[in-house]
Amino acid sequence: MILPIIVLFIIGAAFGSFLSVVIYRLHKEKKGIFFGKSECLYCHKHLKWSDLIPVVSYLMHLGKCAHCKKPIHISYLLLELVCGLLFVSFYLVYPFFTFNFDAIIFFDFILLLKFIYFVFVGWILIGILFYDTKHLEIPEIFTLPTILLIFVVGLFLPEPGLQSMVIGGALGGLFFGAQVWISKEKWLGAGDVQVGILMGLLFGWQLLILAVLISYIIGSIISIALLALKKVTPKSQIPFAPFLVIGTFVTLLFGDLILDIYLNSIF
Ligand SMILES: [Zn+2]
Repeated sequence: MILPIIVLFIIGAAFGSFLSVVIYRLHKEKKGIFFGKSECLYCHKHLKWSDLIPVVSYLMHLGKCAHCKKPIHISYLLLELVCGLLFVSFYLVYPFFTFNFDAIIFFDFILLLKFIYFVFVGWILIGILFYDTKHLEIPEIFTLPTILLIFVVGLFLPEPGLQSMVIGGALGGLFFGAQVWISKEKWLGAGDVQVGILMGLLFGWQLLILAVLISYIIGSIISIALLALKKVTPKSQIPFAPFLVIGTFVTLLFGDLILDIYLNSIF
């Protein structure tokens, strides 16, 4: 089991590295978001392949550009680590293959499809988390196609089922849409509403409620900590989608476990 985990962590970290390029180019609205060579933000030197090894390059150059020695933001390293963890954690949920040094021992196609689906949705969610934290907005290229994808795939999945999915999507949209309307976009923005719809379709209405609850609890704890550490003031605008993304991951990975513990504790 340890070999696939190492391989998937490396692939995931590479996807994280790619995501940081996508985020940067989306913000600059550069042409060729998905293609074109990577370059340093400061000296604009094109990076060699040896500067592009996820995690390793960053650590080897102590977080600095290999050419101009300007510091590279820690978020690049974090994004690579988080995407590595994303691949590993969904592999543990959907262990679609195992192999040794000499042979593939086990392979399951359905588990592979589920793994690809959840890793893709997770990858987009991580993009939303980092983009919103950095730029206080959410690009629709992240949300709208993913909403469509989740709806279409949801038609073929046994869980949460069409009815729960549609109610969940509507509930997520209305709940966050109402807050945007009441606060005149001061608390939340249109992007948060889209993330709400996405979560509702992904979870169905029952697990959506759990995911939103978890998001608010995590959001409160982190906001209070940031206030206490004086990293923000009560007037600062704190992005909300990152908490929704964290709540979504906690629910995807541990939702059933949390519900079991909760139900066992009241009955
Ligand atoms: Zn440079």
